[in-house]
Amino acid sequence: MSFERYLENYADLIVNFALALKPGDKLAINFNADCLPLVRLVTRKAYQNGVLDVFPSLNDETMVLDRYLYAPEEAFEHFPPYRIEYMEKMFQDHYHRLSLVADNPELLKSVDPARIAKWQKTAGQASKPLMAYTMQNKVKWCVAGVASPGWAKAVFPDLPEEEAVAKLWENIFKATRADQPDPLSAWQQHDAELKAHKAFMNTMRFDYLHYEGPGTDLRVHLVKDHIWEGGAAVSADGESFMPNIPTEEIFSMPDADRVDGTLRATMPLSVRGQIVDKFHFTFKDGKVVDFDAEVGKQILADLLDMDEGAKHLGEAALVPANSPISNTGILFKNTLFDENASCHFALGAAYSENMQGSTERSEEENRKLGMNNSLIHVDFMVGGREVTVTGVKADGSRVVLLKDGDWQI
Ligand code: ZN
Ligand code: ZN
Repeated sequence: MSFERYLENYADLIVNFALALKPGDKLAINFNADCLPLVRLVTRKAYQNGVLDVFPSLNDETMVLDRYLYAPEEAFEHFPPYRIEYMEKMFQDHYHRLSLVADNPELLKSVDPARIAKWQKTAGQASKPLMAYTMQNKVKWCVAGVASPGWAKAVFPDLPEEEAVAKLWENIFKATRADQPDPLSAWQQHDAELKAHKAFMNTMRFDYLHYEGPGTDLRVHLVKDHIWEGGAAVSADGESFMPNIPTEEIFSMPDADRVDGTLRATMPLSVRGQIVDKFHFTFKDGKVVDFDAEVGKQILADLLDMDEGAKHLGEAALVPANSPISNTGILFKNTLFDENASCHFALGAAYSENMQGSTERSEEENRKLGMNNSLIHVDFMVGGREVTVTGVKADGSRVVLLKDGDWQI
């Protein structure tokens, strides 16, 4: 099949499955110039479905980089409030959101990490009101990837640009099942499998998860009324949608104060255009008390210093090592793809859908129950064929969940 056909399949997946756009819906799209062919297809299909408005919001990487390099220091200390207000107004008016990611993972390599950290803090604090709309699924939202020259060259540095882009697209289509004869039914079947695994986990009510592997011996307690989620989510209006394309994970809420032991990350992490690699953490009472990284230690230090919650976990996700993504064998250098190739945790904010009753309680009450909050939510990978994950119940009985990279349940 041709590239055009696959791209059409991909747009179809986004419009008709992931966002399930219907008459009367409104859609905001964040994208960069490399995404235009897909954005145009999505827009056409959205209107064909009866969508009232598609609002484009263009980000340009060169402009982002130049701002970091040349804007005055004050630019990073203040966030223009109308940028938040208009987005919040759109969410209140029920605009759903599609975020297309095409980031060059090494874009900000030459930028002073202190400047990046400062801006992330300013922007994070200012955007906090917006986080609630997606973290609590008040609207339908979806994040999907688009091959761009900058990203493709970072993944395939030895290939000429055009070939690298074509190869990255090919792998995106594989990872998202857009290359399959009937992508929509492949996703329906995949969603049913994710739901079966999460139902098993929700029934078992494990007290903690035990991770064992090279450099890893970690006990991660789950909050008492934890909920395992995965696959399609349900919006506040009761509509089913797929927040991430691709997705292979089921995930739940770790108790932010009851994580103990050591872990060694099994993949590099791309944070804000910079790479952290070969890193490990030691946790005590839920907090990172020791860490090291062979590459990008300062970037990791700045990340952990964002706020108190940045030193605690907010998500624990289980992913088999056998999936269309991991079978590509590629390190995508993009969290959306790499986190779905491997078990992972997130430093920072927890998802309210992962704990019963959390939306009816205050942030402080939730925090006492172990729900982490933070300006950041950064996923990092601890998984693969060498990591065994066991569920342990309050009575001490153990069930092996993932071994040699495969589900055992
Ligand atoms: Zn996750
Ligand atoms: Zn996450």
